[in-house]
Amino acid sequence: MKSYRQELWFNVPTRRAFINITPEVEKALKKSGIREGLVLVNAMHITASVFINDNESGLHHDYEVWLEKLAPHEPVSQYRHNVGEDNADAHMKRQVMGREVVVAVTDGRLDFGTWEQIFYGEFDGGRKKRALIKIIGE
Ligand code: ZN
Repeated sequence: MKSYRQELWFNVPTRRAFINITPEVEKALKKSGIREGLVLVNAMHITASVFINDNESGLHHDYEVWLEKLAPHEPVSQYRHNVGEDNADAHMKRQVMGREVVVAVTDGRLDFGTWEQIFYGEFDGGRKKRALIKIIGE
C-alpha cells in the first residue's frame, strides 16, 4: 500500500470565507500516483472546516447567513469561551460544517457524486492555517 501526505496552507484576509480546494486535492492525488484508494482532507484547526458541497455562490452566501444566525459573531461577550479571545462562534461554525471529508479514489480520479466539490471553510481568518491531505491506496 502506498501513502501520501501534503499540507495546504491558507492565510485568509477576511474572518470568514469558503475556498474551493478541489484542484489542489486533484494535484495531490496525481502526485501520489495512487489509482485506487481513499483521500482524507481535514482542517488542522478547530475554527475551520473541510466539507463537500456545490460550487455555487448563492449557496455559499446562504451558508454564511445561516451560520451567522446559528452562532453570531457579535456580541462576542455572549460566549463564555471569549475570555481573552473572540472566536467562540468560529468553533461552533466549524462544528456544524465538519472537520473532514473522505473521497474514494477510482482509476486515479476523485470519485465524486454529481456537483460535489471540496471546500475549506474559514471561520476565524487573518492568520496562517492549514489543512491536511492524506491519500492511501495503490
Ligand atoms: Zn477559541
